[in-house]
Amino acid sequence: MIVVIRPNTPRAQIDEVIEEVRKLGYDPRPIFGTEQSIVAAIGDERTHHTLESLLALPQVEKVMPVQKRYKLVSRESHPKDSVIDVDGLPVGGGRFTVMAGPCSVESETQLLTTAHAVKAAGATILRGGAFKPRTSPYEFQGLGSEGLRLLSLAKKETGLKIITELLAEAHVDEVAEHADILQIGARNAQNFQLLIAAAKTGKPILLKRGLSQRIDEWLLAAEYILAHGNPKVLFCERGIRTFETYTRNTLDLAAVAIIKQESHLPIIIDPSQGAGRADLVKLLCRGATAMGADGLLIEVHPNPSKAMSDGQQQVDFAAFAQLMEELQPFAVAAGRTL
Ligand code: PEP
Ligand code: MN
Repeated sequence: MIVVIRPNTPRAQIDEVIEEVRKLGYDPRPIFGTEQSIVAAIGDERTHHTLESLLALPQVEKVMPVQKRYKLVSRESHPKDSVIDVDGLPVGGGRFTVMAGPCSVESETQLLTTAHAVKAAGATILRGGAFKPRTSPYEFQGLGSEGLRLLSLAKKETGLKIITELLAEAHVDEVAEHADILQIGARNAQNFQLLIAAAKTGKPILLKRGLSQRIDEWLLAAEYILAHGNPKVLFCERGIRTFETYTRNTLDLAAVAIIKQESHLPIIIDPSQGAGRADLVKLLCRGATAMGADGLLIEVHPNPSKAMSDGQQQVDFAAFAQLMEELQPFAVAAGRTL
């Protein structure tokens, strides 16, 4: 970190700053100017105390961090793309993975017909919410444990891997027993205790971006999981809140390029929550694939108009099959194998 001292500060007060920097565990290297001086603080900013508290001293003008605050998720720490093992299925590292299924698990017939349909079209992972985070307490909250049982049944019947949301710490063991990937939803993106509990299961974790989360905050949320011993993280961009009202959220495709630069971990795009409109899903899938995403998370329902949640954004089986067929050239263009 660089500590900038206010102009014309007497030497004794600069020495006071130098001493404080030393006390906080850094090696202070002062540079004295004729008017203004700075103190470079040498040390790992990620593991030392932050020097921002020095701003409380009247002679300190600015404290500027030099290092990024995340380490384990960074591409610097791991230059090669990470491949995440999802119960034997590799995700990332040049492969393109499609996860598809209903927003919510609603019934055995709904889930199993969807599982067969998405598998036939080329998906390898089945999504389905058993515990649902709903804005209103009067809306369908998911089938809970029964939903998890149905997901396991669908896995047994189709061989598809399972992704489902972990909504609360109290459900960790039960959800981990049925899921191959734990989904952390946008509303829990910075629920750090939940992230730690999820990390401890050792299961792969799909970490959705929060509704108003900056990318650095998202990277730091993933850092929590890695720092607690679980390197199996998939980022998932699902749209952020903006002023725009044509779409439910604004899908930030620039995040694909940024996450690829900053991190070695795969990134998955969810165009369903991203747009909130079934008619945009196909085009957003193409865009995300061409941008170099490692996969997609798509909501598919046998009859979207009858869905118990997110009906407006779910595609039916025919639309999903067509979307998958048309995706191939975009995956090839991005150097991915579908
Ligand atoms: C979902 O995938 O159905 C969901 C609730 O996602 P998000 O957390 O992105 O809103
Ligand atoms: Mn949904």
